[in-house]
Amino acid sequence: MNTVIYQIKDTIEDAKSLTEAGRIIREGGLVAFPTETVYGLGGDALSPASSRKIYAAKGRPSDNPLIVHIANIEDLEPITADIPEAGRKLADAFWPGPLTMIFRKSEKVPKETTGGLDTVAVRMPSDPVALAFIREAGGYVAAPSANLSGKPSPTSAKYVIQDMDGKIEMILDGGDVEIGLESTIVDLTEETPTILRPGYVTKEMLEQVLGTVDADRTMMEKDTGVAPKAPGMKYRHYAPKGDLVIVEGDSACVVDYINEQTGLLEKQGEKVAVIGTEETKMLYHAEIVKSVGSRNREETIAHTLYRVLREFDDMDVTRIFSESFDTTGMGQAIMNRLLKAAGHKVIHLCRSTNSD
Ligand code: AMP
Ligand code: MG
Repeated sequence: MNTVIYQIKDTIEDAKSLTEAGRIIREGGLVAFPTETVYGLGGDALSPASSRKIYAAKGRPSDNPLIVHIANIEDLEPITADIPEAGRKLADAFWPGPLTMIFRKSEKVPKETTGGLDTVAVRMPSDPVALAFIREAGGYVAAPSANLSGKPSPTSAKYVIQDMDGKIEMILDGGDVEIGLESTIVDLTEETPTILRPGYVTKEMLEQVLGTVDADRTMMEKDTGVAPKAPGMKYRHYAPKGDLVIVEGDSACVVDYINEQTGLLEKQGEKVAVIGTEETKMLYHAEIVKSVGSRNREETIAHTLYRVLREFDDMDVTRIFSESFDTTGMGQAIMNRLLKAAGHKVIHLCRSTNSD
């Protein structure tokens, strides 16, 4: 299949391209598009055949449900069986934006889109290109991240092209995304709203609106023996090609350990890369050292993490060492993704009581 790539700079100037993209969706095809979180791989959410195509293009297991993207709040009611009060409050506070809510689904949504579940995940993105495209597409666009299953989510069109060229009808290139990590997912079908996947909208932000919010305990732990409530979370995600290990402990211990390991591994012919920060990048001796951002501005780390993992893939890096991050606020989303990328391989080093 020939994949058409359109650059979208402005939703008004590029209106024709957006109309064409919308037509592809209405006719049952697939279009990758930018959102503020990561790029999505879109199809008609109300068509079983379109959803099946999405799974095929990604190589994604079909029990892993898709998120339905809408562009108008009025479009929520037709696809849900009921909208709890908490849903209205969260929509008021965070839509359009990086929050996905799980509702009981209506008949309108096929089980192919929800991975066989009676619930549906819904999000209204804030990216203007995404909103214009969803409207042109008829209002309901099912979209997982636009990467091949198991690869880091794409944060720029370059990586969508790498994974999807020849497999889908169109890619809308809207430049670099703003946030860089997938949306927060909150389940509203439980008695207490429950976070299934951490993201830019943190537990603290949700609690300010709702009071008590739970977090699925499978979110940060390995092998709890309990199935995660977001089916997608059970799959190994976000994996780079190189073997990734997270090193946790006092900054000085972490730097010494990584430098020692780098020396040994590089002698054995391994291509070693280090994920550091603005504060530490100059301390590492490895041939490849990348800063993911500043510890004082966690949004910079969220923004850069997937790009760095993809860049290491491009360089055929075989071993990756990453620093560890605090799990408060947005750090929880960053560590959730990093732990998955590392298959939960963490090395714990010395930690003095008066450490940073
Ligand atoms: P992605 O689009 O790659 O970010 O994946 C979508 C995520 O949403 C996956 O982890 C799914 O498991 C999760 N998800 C989608 N629909 C539901 C649902 N009805 N219940 C629970 N999780 C869902
Ligand atoms: Mg994904």
